[in-house]
Amino acid sequence: MLPTEQTGSQQTEVPCGSCTECCKSGQGLYLHPGQGDDVASYQVQVGADDAGNPVYLLATTAEGACVYLGPSGCTIYERRPLLCRSFDCRKHYLILPRQDRDNLVRLGMSSRAVFNAGRARLKTLSSDEKQACKETREEFFS
Ligand code: SF4
Ligand code: SF4
Repeated sequence: MLPTEQTGSQQTEVPCGSCTECCKSGQGLYLHPGQGDDVASYQVQVGADDAGNPVYLLATTAEGACVYLGPSGCTIYERRPLLCRSFDCRKHYLILPRQDRDNLVRLGMSSRAVFNAGRARLKTLSSDEKQACKETREEFFS
């Protein structure tokens, strides 16, 4: 998966429990203003895409954690942006080949803890969802 990936509204809820790994993984926390994220309502870092257009990411601390991550989890849970509502570490784990997972970790664009969180929760995905991940993986990485 890419850090900007969204998996849509048909996914099952990830049983996160007390995990907050993807909020502090270093992966880009991209906002999607075209899909409803109100950029002005968040603390953001502004970058640019290959064409020079602005891209907006949630601001992070010096350690790379989202500025909205508090001791008990997300402090803006009810208005967290689209990526936070749609990211699924289980699919992130299943879709990416091992080499790509390793590369993202090495490049600081994800963390081993996120992949481990996804792997640990694979049994909570349905067989149909697993099959869809397999097909996506074959489509993009074969
Ligand atoms: S890494 Fe997975 S389990 Fe942990 S907070 Fe993110 S989506 Fe939830
Ligand atoms: S807004 Fe909340 S859910 Fe999203 S990365 Fe920040 S702390 Fe995590």
